[in-house]
Amino acid sequence: MLLDTYGRTATDLRVSLTDRCNLRCTYCMPEEGLDWLKKSTLLTDDEIVRLVRIAVTHLGVREVRFTGGEPLLRPGLVSIVERCAALEPRPELSLTTNGIGLEKVAPALRDAGLDRVNVSLDTVDPETFHRLTRRRRHDDVLRGLAAARAAGLTPVKVNSVLMRGINDDQAPDLLAWAMEHDYELRFIEQMPLDAQHGWTRRDMVTAEEILTSLHTRWTLTPEGDGERGSAPAERWLVDGGPHRVGVIGSVTRPFCGACDRTRLTADGQVRNCLFAREETDLRAALRAEPGASGESDGSDDSAAASAAGDLRVAELWRTAMWGKKAGSGIDDPTFLQPPRPMSAIGG
Ligand code: SAM
Ligand code: SF4
Repeated sequence: MLLDTYGRTATDLRVSLTDRCNLRCTYCMPEEGLDWLKKSTLLTDDEIVRLVRIAVTHLGVREVRFTGGEPLLRPGLVSIVERCAALEPRPELSLTTNGIGLEKVAPALRDAGLDRVNVSLDTVDPETFHRLTRRRRHDDVLRGLAAARAAGLTPVKVNSVLMRGINDDQAPDLLAWAMEHDYELRFIEQMPLDAQHGWTRRDMVTAEEILTSLHTRWTLTPEGDGERGSAPAERWLVDGGPHRVGVIGSVTRPFCGACDRTRLTADGQVRNCLFAREETDLRAALRAEPGASGESDGSDDSAAASAAGDLRVAELWRTAMWGKKAGSGIDDPTFLQPPRPMSAIGG
């Protein structure tokens, strides 16, 4: 199990498949992009599948979400999903994507064993989309969403970030659109994880503001008993249901006390928190093994070495999680943004 000193257990693994992206969302990365990770430092498909296998078979991970950067840019994505779906016990498999290219690949992902997708879309207006992402791809995202729903990757969730002065007045329009198309909408508070370090608390649109704006058109009632457990979103029934809307108040309503996440970056570093400043290098551990690919060549000796390697990696991962801090520290006056931006961590 992946335990920490505060008694939390991580069962939900986020795997970043690449730090590259075909959009330039202003709250995530600058116009010119970033210094992308070198190919030689990226985990190979085999290494990713091996680490997911170790997480599932030795460490109690039950859910795996592929993210990035833009995970649809990873050439081996469908095969990675297929190999992870064949693991025992089989983890729940999901994907967070900007939706560009999903139109083509959604059926193959479903056939490979993907269970669900979250598509990020912050506006229903193509011009606002261009201002936010610096690209004219609004229509591709809409087609990707429709294809995901048609392929049965449901419930299709839509993640939206509101930015002051750009789309902060669009929350009701987004919700009306999402309900019309049967997508489950969740708003996420902007976090200090952009590469440009442009986040300010004053400019951040808060969960409270989002709810106030939605209340102008609908009555929202807390879903169930109002407890969100380890789920970051507080969920509300819209006009009594059946449609719902979620609000993830990562900054103003943090859920760190119930966090069940562990993260693996595209270059093989375990992070115990989005906001962690330390990482544990599993790639180096894998590549230091005799034979280096770490997968058995079928001989008894190789299988024994690989099994021993799995145990060593699992132990490193456990130690990394044990050191998880109580919270993100955003409210601490000494808070420092982590050196890696969201796109390189895997959001
Ligand atoms: N490219 C994919 C996408 O956009 O869905 C996956 C990676 S992206 C980093 C994952 C999620 O993080 C997206 O929903 C995006 O809106 C969100 N995100 C990025 N930067 C953020 C920030 N500074 N604060 C809050 N959410 C952010
Ligand atoms: Fe790309 Fe996703 Fe970051 Fe937007 S939020 S720039 S789509 S990684």
